[in-house]
Amino acid sequence: MRRAGRLVALTLDMVAESIKDGMTTKQLDLLIEDFIRSHGAVPAFKDYQGFPASACISIDDEVVHGIPNQRVIKEGEIVSVDVGTIVDDFYGDSARTYAVGEVSVAKRALMASTLKSLMAGIDKARKGNKLGAVSAAVQAVAEADGYGVVRQLVGHGIGRKMHEEPQVPNFGLPSDGPVLETGMVIAIEPMINMGTHKVKTMPDGWTVVTADGQPSAHFEHTVAISDNGPDILTLA
Ligand code: MG
Ligand code: MG
Repeated sequence: MRRAGRLVALTLDMVAESIKDGMTTKQLDLLIEDFIRSHGAVPAFKDYQGFPASACISIDDEVVHGIPNQRVIKEGEIVSVDVGTIVDDFYGDSARTYAVGEVSVAKRALMASTLKSLMAGIDKARKGNKLGAVSAAVQAVAEADGYGVVRQLVGHGIGRKMHEEPQVPNFGLPSDGPVLETGMVIAIEPMINMGTHKVKTMPDGWTVVTADGQPSAHFEHTVAISDNGPDILTLA
């Protein structure tokens, strides 16, 4: 899983270098697919439940599951890129939101808070804690900054499948859920909205957007529970 996770991180580092005003989301997706396959791995999202691309690419008010297409990425937008890999039958899953050129102070703050909420959640991913400690830590950061925490979509266990038990909500109480034990691996992935937490799914059946049209950010890591604390597998 560390190998799969590391390749996801390298892919997202490549995206940071490549993403720019004027390219289409499809062009970015093809770069991602080529990068993953050139490392001898398989893009986990391709054909997953019929998803037609290798990455989910979601712009501004798109929260997650955006389908790469001919849309042109523009300066001032924030673009969430979610990538999964399969290496020797094990999965890695991570997402980052990128600023394209100069973006507004408000969007910068949303991105920073979302990443901060992820790291606060990861810090609670320790054996003996309830899973809800992770969820509550994410929620506390995002709501203290005045943002909406998406409830309809959650993180997940991960291993030989991309989505395993348990679900990992980004809201809840520290007393909720199962006790975390060494050897568990979870994908923690706050989806944080500038406005309302409410979302809706577009007619394409995939793209999730904010109900009020305000921007959203998404950061995700695959994290193993170890005897020595949280072990982030999706680092380069
Ligand atoms: Mg993901
Ligand atoms: Mg995930």
